[in-house]
Amino acid sequence: MKSLLTFPKGGAHPPECKAQSQGLAIEIMPVPDELELILGQHIGAPCSPTVAKRAEVGEGGLVGEVKKGLGVPLHAPVAGKVKDIGVSVHPIRVSAPSITISVDREAPPVHYEKQSWQQLDSSELLAKVHDAGVIGIGGAGFPTHVKLKPPSDSPVDTLILNGAECEPYITADHRVMLESAAEVVEGAKIILKILGISQCHIGIENNKPDAIREMKKAAEMASGPDCIIKVEALQVKYPQGSEKQLIQAVTGRKVPAMALPSAVGVVVQNVSTAKAIHDAVVYGKPLYEKVITVAGNGIGRAANLQVKIGTKLKDIVEYLGGLKPGLAKIILGGPMMGFAVSSLDVPVTKTTSAVLFLTEDEIDTRPHSQCIRCGWCLEACPMGLEPKEIAIHVEANRAEDTAQFGIFECFECGSCAYVCPAKRPLVQFVRLAKMKAKRPQ
Ligand code: SF4
Ligand code: SF4
Repeated sequence: MKSLLTFPKGGAHPPECKAQSQGLAIEIMPVPDELELILGQHIGAPCSPTVAKRAEVGEGGLVGEVKKGLGVPLHAPVAGKVKDIGVSVHPIRVSAPSITISVDREAPPVHYEKQSWQQLDSSELLAKVHDAGVIGIGGAGFPTHVKLKPPSDSPVDTLILNGAECEPYITADHRVMLESAAEVVEGAKIILKILGISQCHIGIENNKPDAIREMKKAAEMASGPDCIIKVEALQVKYPQGSEKQLIQAVTGRKVPAMALPSAVGVVVQNVSTAKAIHDAVVYGKPLYEKVITVAGNGIGRAANLQVKIGTKLKDIVEYLGGLKPGLAKIILGGPMMGFAVSSLDVPVTKTTSAVLFLTEDEIDTRPHSQCIRCGWCLEACPMGLEPKEIAIHVEANRAEDTAQFGIFECFECGSCAYVCPAKRPLVQFVRLAKMKAKRPQ
């Protein structure tokens, strides 16, 4: 039997915890009375509002744009009235500029007509992706039209769609692949045309056999002499879905330190981003709603919800039956790389993949202790770093000396902290080190 693909160094095996939501079909959440659109949802310059307070907006209408620098426009997820241009609670930055829209419940829904895209050239397709506000919705939020235009000195020959979804609990990409396989694959074909290449691999962890089956069917139907789309079953190992690890698992190519995937001829896109590219190009539909997983023992019921961007956590909680006793932690994203939030006023953004409501029995509350020099963190680090040395330097007030340990190669996957028997907050130590050390040029 062919062995499953994976990356060669490090990794961890946290409990998958996907049973709560993996069998639940995507459910469209009713629109709440009010949405809060954070203006800086992507990497780059935040949007400036293009609407004034009390202005009427239509569903899909432009409400923000980036005039200078890296960025994408922002669109109204519903028809309504601009109630305020102020600030919202932000999970990382505490607060952030935003637009609040009061929903007009009388407005008719917008219908998007299917358009053919095959006659469009690469720059016309890229313009559609930009105009629809598409960013990498499975991760950091990098503007997609920029990622799909790699530097001319790094010729690309391979597209990888990332369907690994290796974080515990999260099943949103799983459901998107299962329920919209043809759209994801058509999104891949659009990306191939933009990049002017013919080869695409779709990497999916082997704990999603139904998604692998559906995506294989769709890929076989879409493939032809000038377009080869292959589905690759990956070993279940965290962080299989990180770009560099996925590239090495699928192609055997190792992205050099501090380099982009295009340095080894690869572009990676998340499967849900491919679906957003499909919607933008085939229907001209801006990115203003997305599928998120809501799970954990602290919420009334789990779900894979299609929500409007700007929906507040408190509206999601109310829709899913309220909070349950014993709630100890709310996490935006997965338990390995997500961020704890302390307010239910936080709105969903384009990069929100999950909201987890975890009870005491789902989190580790043991206090951390001294390093026992077991070396497990070194073994777990997929980048070959030395987390214990970084932590020791930070604790000794020598964070500025940590660049020698390759801290800027750390993508904060949390594998080291997960395996540490002393429960040392190794990711927090690395974050502190990154703030103090000088980034190599
Ligand atoms: S040092 Fe960084 S990359 Fe390595 S395991 Fe820890 S968090 Fe992950
Ligand atoms: S895993 Fe924890 S205890 Fe072991 S060497 Fe690393 S930091 Fe120290």
